[in-house]
Amino acid sequence: MSKKIKKKKNKKISIILFLLIIICLLTFGYCFYNIYKQKITDKNSIKVIFNNVLETEINSEVYLKDYVKEIVNGKLVNGDEIIDTSKLGIKELNLFIKNKDGNEEKYNFKVTIIDSINPIIDASKELTSYIGNSIDLLKDVKVSDNSNEEINAKVVGEYDINKIGKYELRYEAVDSSGNKSEYDFILNIVSDPSNRTFTTSKGFNGKVVNGITYIDGILIANKTYSLPSSYAPGLQSSIQNAFNKLRNDATSLGYDFYIGSGYRSYWDQKIIYNNYVSWDGQVNADTYSARPGHSEHQSGLAVDVCDSNVEACITSAFDSTEQAKWLNDNCYKYGLIIRYPKGKSNLTGYMYESWHLRYVGEELATKLYNNGDWITVEEYYGIDSKYS
Ligand SMILES: [Zn+2]
Repeated sequence: MSKKIKKKKNKKISIILFLLIIICLLTFGYCFYNIYKQKITDKNSIKVIFNNVLETEINSEVYLKDYVKEIVNGKLVNGDEIIDTSKLGIKELNLFIKNKDGNEEKYNFKVTIIDSINPIIDASKELTSYIGNSIDLLKDVKVSDNSNEEINAKVVGEYDINKIGKYELRYEAVDSSGNKSEYDFILNIVSDPSNRTFTTSKGFNGKVVNGITYIDGILIANKTYSLPSSYAPGLQSSIQNAFNKLRNDATSLGYDFYIGSGYRSYWDQKIIYNNYVSWDGQVNADTYSARPGHSEHQSGLAVDVCDSNVEACITSAFDSTEQAKWLNDNCYKYGLIIRYPKGKSNLTGYMYESWHLRYVGEELATKLYNNGDWITVEEYYGIDSKYS
């Protein structure tokens, strides 16, 4: 091979090598430039780091900033915006962030409005109802919930309004998200003191009708058994007729009986009793004056008898008169009884009143007469006369 050809060949290789080196340099340069450029961009780009859980209770007070843990390369513009959390479900929200150049960028994200809080039941722990009376157990039950929805409680458990007992029941309330609350309560079914039946210690049947007590059909008003303040029958014709007959029959003996005190209302009795209490003290007053609601005069079946020829009227001075003796021995014939006999105050609750007659009908009056040594109503029926 000639020297000239060899030289030519070497020159060709050198050019190719040079070009290859140039291409390599350009390629590497371009790559390095790009990596560098990327680094610069990353350094300035906005990055939002959200909280781990993007859930919010319904109707809670939340601001946009509450969802954001950190913002890199930017500043949150609308962080103080309050979120409408009144509806359950997924909610789309927008963050506006100012970057380093002062431009605002929008970031979209989603949160879920949930309801995980149980309703709150507000009710009585214990309810009482009279036997046989219907009762609305939900009447005073209040259910509130963070969802603001109207939630009705229901009663769980069994009870019988016609059976006396203590029933352990439960209210339950469930919101639309399925959150359930329970509330235990007790229902007491008790006997109705105003309408009940009972048996006396001597086996007589007693019944209370609208607060008025009858034993064996006889109205009872004493210290144990009271009358409702609304009971105001006036003087009843049965005793008026019996007294008229008694008075007429006694006329032939020269007696002139009249009713010194007949019917007295609850309110009349209240005034009388309170006057005695303020004058004589309650302990003394209770031996001769009935508390309001406990007076037989309110029943309209009792009278205090006086005689126009005798000065003593409704006082113990009357006890020793022949009129008192006659009443004691004869009133039973007219269906009247000496209601508070001598020596029986421990039974009747009252001192002897020779003038106080009570109508019970001839049958019972005859049984109680006992040859003038009167048996009390309390002894006969086997009942008490004591204030509770
Ligand atoms: Zn009287």
